[in-house]
Amino acid sequence: MNNYLRNYLSGTWQQNAAVAHTLTDPVTGETIAVTGGRAEGLDEGFEFARTRGSAALQALTYGQRAAMLSDVVKVLQANRDAYYEIALANSGTTQSDSAVDIEGAAFTLNYYAKTGAALGDVRVLLDGSASILSKDQLFQSQHVLTPVHGLALFINAFNFPAWGLWEKAAPALLSGVPVVVKPATVTAWLTHRMVADVVAAGVLPVGALSIVCGSSAGLLDALKPFDVLSFTGSADTAVQIRSHAAVARHSVRANIEADSLNSAILGEDAAPGTEAFDLYVKEVVREMTTKSGQRCTAIRRALVPTQYFDAVAEAISSRLDAVTVGNPRNADVRMGSLVSREQYNNVLGGINILAGEATLLRDGRSQALVDVAPDIAACTAPTLLGLRDADHAAVVHDHEVFGPVATLLGYRNPDHAVALAHRGLGSLVTSVFSADESWLSKTALALAGSHGRVHTVTPEVGKVQTGHGNVMPASIHGGPGRAGGGEELGGLRGLGFYHRRSALQGSVATLQHLAVDSHSFRN
Ligand code: NAP
Repeated sequence: MNNYLRNYLSGTWQQNAAVAHTLTDPVTGETIAVTGGRAEGLDEGFEFARTRGSAALQALTYGQRAAMLSDVVKVLQANRDAYYEIALANSGTTQSDSAVDIEGAAFTLNYYAKTGAALGDVRVLLDGSASILSKDQLFQSQHVLTPVHGLALFINAFNFPAWGLWEKAAPALLSGVPVVVKPATVTAWLTHRMVADVVAAGVLPVGALSIVCGSSAGLLDALKPFDVLSFTGSADTAVQIRSHAAVARHSVRANIEADSLNSAILGEDAAPGTEAFDLYVKEVVREMTTKSGQRCTAIRRALVPTQYFDAVAEAISSRLDAVTVGNPRNADVRMGSLVSREQYNNVLGGINILAGEATLLRDGRSQALVDVAPDIAACTAPTLLGLRDADHAAVVHDHEVFGPVATLLGYRNPDHAVALAHRGLGSLVTSVFSADESWLSKTALALAGSHGRVHTVTPEVGKVQTGHGNVMPASIHGGPGRAGGGEELGGLRGLGFYHRRSALQGSVATLQHLAVDSHSFRN
């Protein structure tokens, strides 16, 4: 097999080992790439990154590293046609769904290149100003942020092989911290190709970027004190990661992005026929169908005033009827496939679980598919379920079906809507649609405690709003509780994870020397 996804560690592409995993085209079922199993040379590879990679990156200023990110973008842009082909073959996505991942990666890198350039040619970030510790004011304390001494290990989910790498790597590399990425095996090809292109272009110092494909075995054991770990994936795997002995023993700083039962609330003022109503319906449909609903931020629970339940159900269903589903190579297809047949089975099983307490309002499983063999392709059309009495529901607030599936839930009054949103026990995002700005701002604050992001939409911003599910690098991404408790991005806030904050205490004259090569870091 030519397309063997080799590991890149210690600045070297490793030899092929025995094939342990195959990657398949989720539409045709053909094998498209293979990987080995447990990686060899992890300890040495990690040490190489911590020493060679760190030293080279940290010899540069923030401004120089920001320029490096711009060079990475140029490499990715030069190869983007190949990325679209890989996404089509490996993720079964249409051109526009592949763009969410591929262009999203370049956009985020560009954002950090520009934001990082503004830090200038300095090597130290000051955190706030000095505090006086002695009565005569001569002895003071200045907090500084310095890059962590270790490496950043990313264990990523299958749904964003491009963006999932670069949204984490951009702030890490800008901070001066070397990266080791372990993409989810099922879609590892795109991540692998991007790393290979960047390595071949020589735009990053040796040791700054490494990749392990195929097996996570041994990765966590190779972590040491000062390393940081970022995991994106299911809540079940997150539990294993958090409780891993090396993570616990070495106090490895871990950022976890896991499942999320995101909600979208339609305001009471947004009756059928209003602009806010139409915007809400469009958004729910977009969230259900973009990347076949395989976005961690997708709307899973659509909360609507009970009196509008039937009108919303009808409006969403009729829009979904227009969504052609099947082979993304066919120009008539608007929604491609799920990522694998295994995921397809999970989604169908999940629909059955939800249907145990909710009514099937639109059953996508019976929709005809375009240009695919239904017993091979991982394709299923959008399914909408509904429950007027959401109080007595349990699984709709608890079971994430990672596909084109959402449940419509009735609420009695605005307080009830907020209470139902909280029943997700911590989500990445919720959105609220209304023309009443005063109610929106009050509701947004009430929702903020259990959500990483609250996205409010009024008719005024209907055309320019960035979308419920789109993660913008200027805003934080992550959520409390079930969502994993993580926090990424958020502009320069995203650099905090890759830095250590220390209090430097000394005389005014000593601390003044820090100002020579530093930038005052304020979020
Ligand atoms: P997953 O099965 O948990 O896998 C995620 C990653 O963890 C993969 O790279 C996987 O490698 C690796 N892994 C599996 N077992 C491991 C272990 N014992 N130790 C270390 N690594 C291990 O999740 P998934 O199926 O890829 O992703 C779907 C889930 O991710 C959904 O539930 C979704 O909500 C969540 N997600 C969350 C976000 C977010 O930002 N909050 C974003 C995207 C997805 P292999 O592939 O080799 O098994």
